[in-house]
Amino acid sequence: MPTADPHQDLRRGVRDLCRAFPDSYWRDLDRERRYPETFVRALTDAGYLAALIPEEYGGAGLGVTEASIILEEINRSGGNAAACHAQMYTMGTLLRHGSDAQKQTFLPQIATGALRLQAFGVTEPTTGSDTTQLKTFATRHGDRFIVRGQKVWTSRAEHSDLLLLVVRTTPLEQVRKRTEGLSILLVDLRRSVGRGLTIRPIRTMMNHATTELFFDDLEVPAGALVGEEGQGFRYLLDGLNAERILIAAECIGDARWFVERATRYANDRVVFNRPIGQNQGVQFPIARAYANLEAADLMRFRAAELFDRAEPCGAQANMAKLLAADASWEAANVAVQTHGGFGFAEDYDVERKFRETRLYQVAPVSTNLILAFIAEHVLGLPRSF
Ligand SMILES: Cc1cc2nc3c(=O)[nH]c(=O)nc-3n(C[C@H](O)[C@H](O)[C@H](O)COP(=O)(O)OP(=O)(O)OC[C@H]3O[C@@H](n4cnc5c(N)ncnc54)[C@H](O)[C@@H]3O)c2cc1C
Repeated sequence: MPTADPHQDLRRGVRDLCRAFPDSYWRDLDRERRYPETFVRALTDAGYLAALIPEEYGGAGLGVTEASIILEEINRSGGNAAACHAQMYTMGTLLRHGSDAQKQTFLPQIATGALRLQAFGVTEPTTGSDTTQLKTFATRHGDRFIVRGQKVWTSRAEHSDLLLLVVRTTPLEQVRKRTEGLSILLVDLRRSVGRGLTIRPIRTMMNHATTELFFDDLEVPAGALVGEEGQGFRYLLDGLNAERILIAAECIGDARWFVERATRYANDRVVFNRPIGQNQGVQFPIARAYANLEAADLMRFRAAELFDRAEPCGAQANMAKLLAADASWEAANVAVQTHGGFGFAEDYDVERKFRETRLYQVAPVSTNLILAFIAEHVLGLPRSF
């Protein structure tokens, strides 16, 4: 029987779906670095990946709060929402700044799963966190752009039909502010690969389907421009708060998984004729990790609530990402320590989740860059870079 709390139903629905994808499913994929195609298909068919698409385009018309709950439950179940989270946070750029024609063309197809928008190309090898310095350039020639340059860490490009690509359209020397002159293109990967675009996979410490992209005079129709030319940085910033909140929720899901597994193991494992969890040296770190994850979760819901009310939430979204990533990393270490040697055994999945959650200290924005944001924009300390 449905309960009164809509989030309870949502959580239960995602959990039920995830039950068909047990630890062994993710473990096998991890070993072979394969994409969780069946899982992503099931999630799409159930409508969860269309959570943020308005109902008029065939989506569920939900908010970031609900989207974040979906991703949290995936990670809490032992899975890895990184396989499909980009659609959730790139969606806003298309929704807020895309033309009616773009929305009519793409959103209904994304909602049904006929098209996937799972790739987001910002980072470049020589630019790093300083996005305004990115060098991939799109030159306008009548009704098309010619794109030259290189991206790195463009995740899921091999498993996506569309790519949201950030390029420079006016050279840095010709703009007043370095944030000007960037634009966003919605690139159809199906028409691009082998015709000016090369995708090369990068093997990483966890199963993440990430790649580098090489643009060699790729032709992109002018109609692929999202919003106004030169305003891309502003559009990018708009989407970052959603991204921070959604990733924070994944970290919360991870942290809950680690705490649950550590607690279960600490209750079951008997050494010196007592469960190891009877020792305060074992139980206190788990209790502390739990307290920190609950605190981070409050900030995540606060940020999501503000976002869904269209109120400023930059500080809260950044703090949610920082605190949740720290909480999941703390819980990951506690889970390994509690499991002793078995924390390192593939069959227990702790080492896999440990590798997966480590990413969020670095991507999509590193901890230092969040601290710099809080220092400068919240506390009014001098700009450090
Ligand atoms: C698995 C994976 C998947 C990814 N997926 C995507 C994706 O889909 N799309 C995409 O566009 N990008 C993606 N990224 C890129 C990710 O967003 C970047 O790695 C991240 O933003 C950090 O940039 P960087 O690696 O260039 O590090 P750098 O900017 O080179 O920084 C290196 C280190 O120096 C620190 N640092 C740099 N400047 C300062 C400063 N001024 N003060 C203090 N510390 C500083 C950073 O905090 C960091 O720890 C992914 C990365 C990984 C590893």
